[in-house]
Amino acid sequence: MLVSDPTYDPTSGSARGYPVGNAIFPTLALLNHSCDNNVTKYFVGSLVVAVAARDIDVGEEVTENYFPHYAYVSRAERRRWLQCHYNFECACQACVADYPQIFGETNKE
Ligand SMILES: [Zn+2]
Repeated sequence: MLVSDPTYDPTSGSARGYPVGNAIFPTLALLNHSCDNNVTKYFVGSLVVAVAARDIDVGEEVTENYFPHYAYVSRAERRRWLQCHYNFECACQACVADYPQIFGETNKE
């Protein structure tokens, strides 16, 4: 069971969200995904605020999480979801090192 997105269906690897609108944030669009992102975002009205979620080393890439995060979803499920929705196989550090899932069910590949 996923904690972060109650609409996520692990059997199909898809999230059944409820679209409420679209927006383009050109600066934030430059950030790549990581399953162990170092930036998190929140909305203040029509603004998006990005803040460091942990210390970021000099020279370290600034990343956001498109969904899902390694703590909640197994690597196999994350990669399936990202491939389906963003058409890439994630090669972030959490995927390469296969960080252990912390919350929810652990699904072995
Ligand atoms: Zn990853």
